[in-house]
Amino acid sequence: MKLILLGAPGAGKGTQAEIICEKLSIPTISTGNIIREAMKNGTEMGLKAKAAVEAGQLVSDDVVIGIIKERLAKDDCNNGFILDGFPRTIPQAEALDSLGVEIDCVLDIDVKDEAIAARLGGRRVCPACGASYHLEYKKPAKDGICNLCGAELIQRKDDAPETVLERLAIYHEQTEPLKNYYSKTGKLKSVPGQEEVADTTKLVFEALGI
Ligand code: ADP
Ligand code: ZN
Repeated sequence: MKLILLGAPGAGKGTQAEIICEKLSIPTISTGNIIREAMKNGTEMGLKAKAAVEAGQLVSDDVVIGIIKERLAKDDCNNGFILDGFPRTIPQAEALDSLGVEIDCVLDIDVKDEAIAARLGGRRVCPACGASYHLEYKKPAKDGICNLCGAELIQRKDDAPETVLERLAIYHEQTEPLKNYYSKTGKLKSVPGQEEVADTTKLVFEALGI
């Protein structure tokens, strides 16, 4: 299955991506994670992206399209993949089309802005492995510690309240039009994001028929 996950920042795309990835044994490609990894490693791309990411703005289309081209060319994508956080603009969607990638489904996880602000405020992430947690909705087994690798959890800089508002504004302006773009292809499905991860997963599996 070739799947795109759409939704506002903090709608739970990454969490659902991990679960679908495990169920279907296909890789998740998260442009956000790839960019953060590059920032951590201080690569040229990472250094270029840093200011935009930390201000809650989008990295340029050229850069993310380059990332996706390179990633989709790897063998593990042959049997399908989950795109988490790409495309985020119409030009990115057009670039994906022009790569000749046949997407099976575009799944939108719909969450209201008020709920997003609360979710991102409570989000904590693992700086070592990228796993994501929430103080209320997805607690690690041990407070402040990553279940997967034992590193100490941190709050992302772009999850600060002022930055969240900027990210939501950009989402409505640049990413939300993708719903219309993909509904024209008949591939768009939408599920309302729930408070409990498992409840959203149930709706997601139903929508995907898996
Ligand atoms: P979230 O979904 O929580 O906003 P991500 O981890 O997907 O976070 O992305 C974090 C940041 O990385 C974004 O705010 C943006 O700066 C950058 N980024 C990720 N994916 C893209 C993309 N497709 N286009 C442009 N910028 C991106
Ligand atoms: Zn970890």
